[in-house]
Amino acid sequence: MITREKIEEIADSIRTTLGLTYPYDPEKATTLLNGTIKPISIDHKIDAAIKKNGEKGFIIYLNIDEPVLRKRFTVAHELGHLFLHMGYLNDKKKWDSISDDGFQDSAYFRMLDNYSQEENEANEFAASFLMPKTEFIEIAQQNLSHNQYSIKPIADYFNVSVSAAINRGKWLGIFAW
Ligand SMILES: [Zn+2]
Repeated sequence: MITREKIEEIADSIRTTLGLTYPYDPEKATTLLNGTIKPISIDHKIDAAIKKNGEKGFIIYLNIDEPVLRKRFTVAHELGHLFLHMGYLNDKKKWDSISDDGFQDSAYFRMLDNYSQEENEANEFAASFLMPKTEFIEIAQQNLSHNQYSIKPIADYFNVSVSAAINRGKWLGIFAW
């Protein structure tokens, strides 16, 4: 299991290393990391998947029919698998052990309604990547009045769905469960 703090740290270091600034764009990150996004159609019944592409690259298969906010989160989620579970650029042994056909398939679990630990970790990575901790707390403060957070403007600021912003606030211990 990878701790929440560690996931936060990895997401921060990737944003910083790539020189990404607000608004954080996971597709741009993918390109900078030598990855490729390939569209898949809706009849695949999955949102996305990630696959190794040679020694120095990867492919994210993305359902392009999904809404924009969801696609952003999904690509960031797949990047979570890439760094946390495939070892890309941080665990050579693990990365080398993955074959070119080695899939890390999120939506498979989603379809079975079975949220595995890896799925949770990839979701936390996506949230950390799209909504950096310090900035999230700052923006949340700006949208706090009478002890009540307005979630919509926070979600809009980070270009994520309302539910993604709520989860991030909960994981950070700012919003009540
Ligand atoms: Zn996944």
